[in-house]
Amino acid sequence: MIDQAAVQTEVELQIHLYQTDSRLSRAIEDALARINWGTFGVCESCKRAISKARLEAVPWTRHCRDCKEQEHA
Ligand SMILES: [Zn+2]
Repeated sequence: MIDQAAVQTEVELQIHLYQTDSRLSRAIEDALARINWGTFGVCESCKRAISKARLEAVPWTRHCRDCKEQEHA
């Protein structure tokens, strides 16, 4: 399982780094909401867990790598 507190700290850190990008800060706010709902780290398309490596790279992502690649296929 994902350490939710650690993830939340990481996402909050990213907010400070990216707060000038309104589109991205919206995505980060959405990620924080999903942490609160307990759905963070679950792909919205296939409902499978998103890999920890992907979450560390893109903590606000809503889709796993497979679904993201299909989106651009
Ligand atoms: Zn997926």
